[in-house]
Amino acid sequence: MLTGVAAVGAGLVAGSSHVPMAPRIGGGAGSRPTTPESALRALVAGNGRWRTYHERHPDQTRTVRRTLVAGQHPFAVVLGCVDSRVPPELVFDQGLGDLLTVRSAGEVLDEAVLGSIAYGVLELRIPLVVILGHQSCGAVAAAVRAAEGGPRLPGHMQYLVDQIRPAIDRGLRGAARIDAAITANVRLVRERLAAEPEMAAKVAAGALAVVGARYELTSQRVRLVR
Ligand SMILES: [Zn+2]
Repeated sequence: MLTGVAAVGAGLVAGSSHVPMAPRIGGGAGSRPTTPESALRALVAGNGRWRTYHERHPDQTRTVRRTLVAGQHPFAVVLGCVDSRVPPELVFDQGLGDLLTVRSAGEVLDEAVLGSIAYGVLELRIPLVVILGHQSCGAVAAAVRAAEGGPRLPGHMQYLVDQIRPAIDRGLRGAARIDAAITANVRLVRERLAAEPEMAAKVAAGALAVVGARYELTSQRVRLVR
């Protein structure tokens, strides 16, 4: 299973210039991706459409909206940042009922985020969780500034900074430090999440993959974070 996800992920990293023509996913339960590999493949294809300006805006028709009244069968959980430039449904070219999205600044975990992801994985049996960081993440930049001696952040924002701090590489400086922290933070969140006993059991059984990824604002490409 992991090999399969890695192989699909390699496509995510390498990318290809042609527009992926994966079969339409559809709004019903019957045609959903049901494995970690097929779910990741659908996201790779969707991001390929997005970054080449060939979006299909799937699953938004009158019929789909009506079908979804009866229930939802999303095929991937995406934990992304709150940043307005990285809406998961857009950058993966998905529609209604396709993704269970959880968003917090810097993809930071707390009880509500963990509970929301657990709902998707354990109740809705979603086979894939993607932790989606992104280039120029303001939350990570704020955490780096705070670690460099900046003032305490007001209100609940200090919680975000405290959670991201372990991802900061003190051997780096400036923009390189922020960029490395963005990637390291994705790894950190992925490891914390994958260590949750219920998640670990699903991963061990081959029923779930928890993968990290980064969205680049400049290329609009999502690439896997190993
Ligand atoms: Zn961000």
